[in-house]
Amino acid sequence: MSKKGILIIGAGGVSRVATVKCAMNINTFEKITLASRTISKCEIIKNEIKNNQKINIDIACVDANNIDELVKLIKKINPKLVLNLALPYQDLIIMDACIKTNVHYIDTANYEHKDEVKFEYKEQWAKNQAFKDAKIIGLLGSGFDPGVTGVFCAYAQQNLFDSIEYIDIMDCNDGNNGYAFATNFNPEINLREVSSNGKYWENGSWIETKPLEIKIEHDYPEIGIRSSYLLYHEELESLSKNIKGLKRIRFFMTFSDSYISHMNCLQNVGMLGIKEINHKGQKIIPMEFLSTLLPDPASLGEKTIGKTNIGCIIEGFKEGIRKKVYIYNTCDHQECYKETKAQGVSYTTGVPAMIGAKLLYTQKWKNTGVFNIEEFEANIFMDELMTQGLPWKILQLPI
Ligand code: NDP
Repeated sequence: MSKKGILIIGAGGVSRVATVKCAMNINTFEKITLASRTISKCEIIKNEIKNNQKINIDIACVDANNIDELVKLIKKINPKLVLNLALPYQDLIIMDACIKTNVHYIDTANYEHKDEVKFEYKEQWAKNQAFKDAKIIGLLGSGFDPGVTGVFCAYAQQNLFDSIEYIDIMDCNDGNNGYAFATNFNPEINLREVSSNGKYWENGSWIETKPLEIKIEHDYPEIGIRSSYLLYHEELESLSKNIKGLKRIRFFMTFSDSYISHMNCLQNVGMLGIKEINHKGQKIIPMEFLSTLLPDPASLGEKTIGKTNIGCIIEGFKEGIRKKVYIYNTCDHQECYKETKAQGVSYTTGVPAMIGAKLLYTQKWKNTGVFNIEEFEANIFMDELMTQGLPWKILQLPI
């Protein structure tokens, strides 16, 4: 029987948006199955889609840490592709399940070890030959960053520049959710990212900084000047390989003073620890416990107001003339909520996840092996962004 439909794994904030958007593109995807560990979360999303769009999606319960369960589910559903919107800890197992069942794979975040911060692609890239042998694609990082930022860089390389020397990825979330401290996507992954050492790539080497050591003031279109901190972000690893002639690539993200002082305090008292500790005879991981206490990012939609502005400042040469552009998207949290009942960070991740899936499903992006998003033709993705809810603009910047 030929493969049909999409299987989405995970039912958090990002998955909610991707599932709603897949339903809006049901003519492409034909059939949608949403599977996660907590079936009640799938049920809520299913019922909303049924009420609003009159589209029935299937749901299932799966523990994506268990390869046998996953393979059984994939074989039963027989989808054309699996969209992994669970957590980065599950990436390798879901990839292996896709290899065993010859089904395309997409995710939005690189594999992470549960008890060690790495943020690197090595283990996923190592599956390239197995994906080729299974005649399937593994599309890594089809969210916003990584994801759309890679597409913006590829678009610039393919259309705007003969050579690119400098890239700064700028991520501003100017939203306010009313909480003293809350993360806009999975707390464990968010806090690992922000509290780790910073790192950027220059002239072929990695330069490491202390966490949040480098701060600049940057003027974001449609938002204004905001303090932005240099972080290591996983797309730096693939873009430094895939953008030819690059001299430097960095990543900056905005944080409020309140976010930083809460995070520092939590770190100082050991609440960001990712190793098991003994608490009154019970083994707990402090970061997991903290994650339980913090607001669920999927629940922040209604309260969050303000905008996001994420994009790439790209500098290089075209026909011998130096030029600099900012390619970006601005998203309004409340507009995202109206459409999907999710806040802007889930929205800006879930929409590109659906677009990546659409391009593989329709074979507009074809190949075998494991790829980062910037390795594909960008224009077609850029066209989809315009019509699927994430329109982009290009600003010419002074040199
Ligand atoms: P959430 O924590 O809201 O949702 C994660 C979902 O995965 C939950 O439904 C959870 O189920 C499910 N899950 C966790 N473990 C398993 C498992 N073993 N088996 C099955 N399901 C499981 O996260 P977000 O929606 O905020 O983020 C989803 C992904 O998107 C993350 O990998 C995150 O890093 C990534 N991301 C990427 C961005 C980008 O721009 N590229 C930006 C933001 C996020 P349960 O409810 O039972 O715990």
